[in-house]
Amino acid sequence: MLDRPGAPLADTLRETTERWIEAFSAALAGRSAGELSELFVADSHWRNLFGISWHFATFSGNATVVAELLARGTEVRAANFRIDHGALAPRHAVVGGRDVIEAIFAFDTVNGAGYGAIRLLRQPDGLAKAWTISTSLDFDSICEARAGGSPAQSTTRDFAGPDWLEARQAEAAYDNRDPDVLIVGGGHAGISVAVEAKRIGLTSLVIDREERIGDNWRLRYRGLKLHNKTPVNHLRYLPFPKTFPDYIPKDRIANWLESYVDIMEVDFWTRTAFEGATYDDASQRWTARLTREGAGRTLRPKHIVLATSVSGTPAIPEIAGIDNFEGEVLHSSRFKAGRQWAGRGVIVFGTGTSAHDICQELQAAGAEITMVQRSPTMVVNVEPAQLYDKTYLGDGPPIASRDILNSGVPLPVMKLAHKLVTDEVKRLDAPLLSRLEAAGFRLEYGEDGTGWPLKFRTRGGGYYFNVGASELIADGRIRLVQAADIEAYVADGVRLRDGTTRKADLFVLATGYKGPDHLLTQLFGAAVADRVGRVWGFDEGTAELRNMWTRTRQPGLWFTGGAFSQARIYSRYIALQIDAIEAGRLGKGLG
Ligand SMILES: Cc1cc2nc3c(=O)[nH]c(=O)nc-3n(C[C@H](O)[C@H](O)[C@H](O)COP(=O)(O)OP(=O)(O)OC[C@H]3O[C@@H](n4cnc5c(N)ncnc54)[C@H](O)[C@@H]3O)c2cc1C
Repeated sequence: MLDRPGAPLADTLRETTERWIEAFSAALAGRSAGELSELFVADSHWRNLFGISWHFATFSGNATVVAELLARGTEVRAANFRIDHGALAPRHAVVGGRDVIEAIFAFDTVNGAGYGAIRLLRQPDGLAKAWTISTSLDFDSICEARAGGSPAQSTTRDFAGPDWLEARQAEAAYDNRDPDVLIVGGGHAGISVAVEAKRIGLTSLVIDREERIGDNWRLRYRGLKLHNKTPVNHLRYLPFPKTFPDYIPKDRIANWLESYVDIMEVDFWTRTAFEGATYDDASQRWTARLTREGAGRTLRPKHIVLATSVSGTPAIPEIAGIDNFEGEVLHSSRFKAGRQWAGRGVIVFGTGTSAHDICQELQAAGAEITMVQRSPTMVVNVEPAQLYDKTYLGDGPPIASRDILNSGVPLPVMKLAHKLVTDEVKRLDAPLLSRLEAAGFRLEYGEDGTGWPLKFRTRGGGYYFNVGASELIADGRIRLVQAADIEAYVADGVRLRDGTTRKADLFVLATGYKGPDHLLTQLFGAAVADRVGRVWGFDEGTAELRNMWTRTRQPGLWFTGGAFSQARIYSRYIALQIDAIEAGRLGKGLG
């Protein structure tokens, strides 16, 4: 692990990483806790994304990392670790404020090929030790190995048989058969699971209650564009063309999803609502009740993936006295456009992204806007907001390698990194932030100043990517009221403690969305909901999102959701696990 003095930089990095991985492979093979321990720093972390054992967790601290690696490595015969120079030429990087050498490696297990990322720290004596390591099953290699390298069969020349369209229609009808996997919700999360399930050889059906694929975006408020940049948001297998804008408008993403479903041959039923399901332990199948275009239908899939969004159901708080208001009251999810409110008063409750975008839309349409702030909110200009995603921006390796690097950052290191980014964006945004504070806006920056991405993962909101509404607030063109300053709700608006009244014809409740937990009781009953427990938000034991993309305590019930990048990275693990379960290599529930 010593570098040769004076060696060219590239050689040095190559040698350093290769020596580390060889020593690691040997220590694991020899089951030597002492040798393994020497390879990691004291505050090291291992993020296991189903790579070494079917477990999704982050382990922290030298002793824990070593003990878990030894136990789990033996279980799946993890071996033959080698640096993958094709995926990434080992390089210097700064991660969480520390100078690291990062590399991608490959390895083998009884469950198939694996890959991972390491971040090594140079020690004062010249040795390199690992600060972080991640391990994951290599979905592409596993699928390619099964296909034996042969391309999918081209259309048969049997003119008497069904042609492609007829075959697709028959496949998607599920007339006299059931899919292996029923996916409830056809946003990017559900669709991504279907694509990966199909690739690994499972049948799956996506259902959505909306009229048309993409309506999950189409029906949102006018003017909505994605708030993170296009290179972060690619769907698997079919990246957005280079001609796409930096921030994709909602209707364009809706149309893209519709085309993607068609191109990737996803079986998808629109206008189909999932009403609930019960699980039969004996047959290990669900009985799922659907309403398809008004008629009842039952399916008996082996697995159900709930992809109904981690922010799908409007959260409408109890607001005492709001019934006194005689105007219209809408949740932000039902707000479409501002034009009809020109010249009229509107009060928007909430200070998240939807609240700001809706205020800006209404202000542009000529409405009189008041924004009501209930709790402190993070505001970040849309460009510095992208700094959290910088793994994906600028020149560099292909997106598959960037996904390995990105998902190879364990939560404790992510917190360190994001805190530094937050300090940086606060510095860059200082002029705007001080103007906002002067206008009475209360700011905050997430737990321990870690910024918006962890707010999304813990509470699904609480931030705004400024695209102009903050300037309107600072200039007083969107008037700001603190919720505590409201004395009463009256027929024509709100009366404030200073005796003035803000008149309105419309209240928009931009009060956020409920997490997926609340749907569990409604759709699966209290016993299943109790068994599964919380969904989304971090589990303190595993330092991973609760119940996401992993087996749950309810056999055959899975959850997916989150941002585009999360769907792209994690959907394949659901497919891999279901495939292993159906092949008898993995138990169905977590016990
Ligand atoms: C206003 C807004 C802006 C956002 N902007 C971004 C952004 O810029 N970048 C980003 O990465 N993320 C963004 N998000 C967060 C997140 O990516 C989106 O919410 C995204 O739509 C989530 O995708 P999904 O597939 O998990 O769920 P959804 O897209 O919400 O899809 C869930 C689907 O489930 C269906 N469904 C629900 N219940 C049932 C049922 N019982 N039966 C049948 N179908 C059902 C719904 O009809 C819906 O189509 C935004 C969210 C909101 C609310």
